[in-house]
Amino acid sequence: MARYATKETEAKWQAAWADQRVFTAKIDPSKPKYYVLEMFPYPSGRLHMGHVRNYAMGDLTARYKRARGFNVLHPMGWDAFGLPAENAAMQNKRHPAEWTYANIDSMRAQFGQLGVSFDWERELATCHPQYFRHEQKMFLDFWKNGLAYRKKSYVNWDPVENTVLANEQVVDGKGWRSGAPVERRELNQWFLKITEYADDLLSAITTLDRWPDRVRVMQENWIGKSQGAQLQFALTEASRKPGFEAVEVYTTRPDTLFGASFLAIAANHPLALELAKSDADAAEFIAECNRLGTSEAVIEQAEKLGYRTGLFVANPFVPGQELPVYLANFVLMEYGTGALFGCPAHDQRDFDFATKYDLPIVTVVRPRDADASYTVGKGPFTDDGILINSGFLDGLTVADAKKAACDHIEKLGIGTVKTQYRLRDWGVSRQRYWGCPIPVIHCPSCGPVAVPDTQLPVTLPEDVTFDAPGNPLDRHPTWKHVTCPTCGGAATRETDTLDTFFESSWYFLRFASPRSEEAFDKEAVDYWLPVDQYIGGVEHAVLHLLYSRFFTRALKQCGYVDMKEPFAGLFTQGMVCHQTYKSADGQWLFPTDVRQDEAGAFIEIATGQASTPGRVEKMSKSKKKRHRPRRDYRCLWGRCCAAVRAVGLAPGARFRVDHGGHRWCVALREPPVALGDRTRHR
Ligand SMILES: [Zn+2]
Repeated sequence: MARYATKETEAKWQAAWADQRVFTAKIDPSKPKYYVLEMFPYPSGRLHMGHVRNYAMGDLTARYKRARGFNVLHPMGWDAFGLPAENAAMQNKRHPAEWTYANIDSMRAQFGQLGVSFDWERELATCHPQYFRHEQKMFLDFWKNGLAYRKKSYVNWDPVENTVLANEQVVDGKGWRSGAPVERRELNQWFLKITEYADDLLSAITTLDRWPDRVRVMQENWIGKSQGAQLQFALTEASRKPGFEAVEVYTTRPDTLFGASFLAIAANHPLALELAKSDADAAEFIAECNRLGTSEAVIEQAEKLGYRTGLFVANPFVPGQELPVYLANFVLMEYGTGALFGCPAHDQRDFDFATKYDLPIVTVVRPRDADASYTVGKGPFTDDGILINSGFLDGLTVADAKKAACDHIEKLGIGTVKTQYRLRDWGVSRQRYWGCPIPVIHCPSCGPVAVPDTQLPVTLPEDVTFDAPGNPLDRHPTWKHVTCPTCGGAATRETDTLDTFFESSWYFLRFASPRSEEAFDKEAVDYWLPVDQYIGGVEHAVLHLLYSRFFTRALKQCGYVDMKEPFAGLFTQGMVCHQTYKSADGQWLFPTDVRQDEAGAFIEIATGQASTPGRVEKMSKSKKKRHRPRRDYRCLWGRCCAAVRAVGLAPGARFRVDHGGHRWCVALREPPVALGDRTRHR
């Protein structure tokens, strides 16, 4: 072949592969097996460059292992529930199912063009009842086994739309559509008891020797095992209220108690709520904290604010010393006891808080090479050192002082040594339509009742509207009204659906026997699992991978499978990143719009004006395309630019879009292949 004829050659061989079913995996005990899996995509509509990279790596691995004589399983499916489908439904008046399945079709076709060696006979979509009926059964089994439970918990509430918001729908403390300040509301939610496995999930990390170190460290930190003390700070006589004699605090630094200068409690702490009944300013401060929503990231970034309650507690280590009690926006009821003591000299956040509110900063740990007159200066001292100004702890190392302080706390009878985990139970309730219905019926006399096996799956009603705020399942005229399976009385369905991480926590097991009537075919799972090589973005280092490890353990406990660790090997990749550039008037530029002059300065090619290089960021439309006319594209890719140059045109030649949505290079009059929103020539 003088010239590689892409169009004919690739189509010919892709058809031959499909005819011969060369990528169809079958159990063959005579061969070593190899299960390679890339994290399955959300069907957003089009493959983007990040997809191509991810699936090219998996494809390479699969083809290499096949060539080496392995029996390879390389399946593909769709993580098909989730919010974008509902948003599209609202904007385009299309049903989420229709939108999702259309996207799946176009992305499957794109994978076909790429020629990735998937076993398409195992394709699955998590929004299909044949998939989620099994997870409804799993949910009920978890519930039976004490691994799922219901409790009140805080959610982001949009007071204008009267709906719950996901954390990502809260922008700067406001609802993304209404713009109204978000409130925190307490609702009954379902939780999975991942904390039951905290210790096992942590200790088994050492067995994951084919995982990247950084992911293992991230999981360790997320589980966050800490040793500390849980102790009572007695409220002073004048500060006591009926039922409130003391405030319970968890601390990992009991050694710094001599340096305590305030106590901070969460805005939703019972004492705070009690106080709000008689203190309008406290109530206002609590309302302000609630407007921050529930996103940990937002709370972390917000300015640290406190409200001085006028209450005091006694420092148990310093007789006669009273510490002021603050309500604070950075203390969360969900963590520890919802209360902490601040030692400003040895913690950055406490230091900032003390500086802001003019509280004492008492140094109680000195560096090893400093003497006892040492005091902290412009910032806290957070390293290891030797105790000073601390009575019976003076002269001890931090580690020894922690132990001595814990002993003293126990001797005083005000607390105990406690191991704590940062890991919280996994809240799985979502007030959304496009998700797997939680198979529970609420009966006024029997309480929450499981939907009987014979009535599974609980499917979504199709005749829903998205023209009003809130969950369409909630306002559907008939769907939720049922009879109680236990007493036969009138009852209502649970209208919450499951977090979409629920579906992605077991799909890799389902691929072993995707058409089985049971959730898993034991022979197939035993043969194919664990996944030998899992590939995906590092942004999933914690949640998805940790949930999947927990899920596999929970399934084992409920008798579904006989294994604990689903992924033997893991490869994580970063995001596709590139340096960003802005023009003189502050608009985002494509990298190809910019050149460097001899002095190394960045110049916008079109205008000759200086361009400002910015951070290296994740490739995204917003950073590169904001200033582009809508139906007019520039060639971005090196190969394309080379082709354009070959016919004597500058890089950045324009494309037009024809009626079928295909992009044509105006200069070459050849159809390029669309890749996301960018284009390149065949
Ligand atoms: Zn009943």
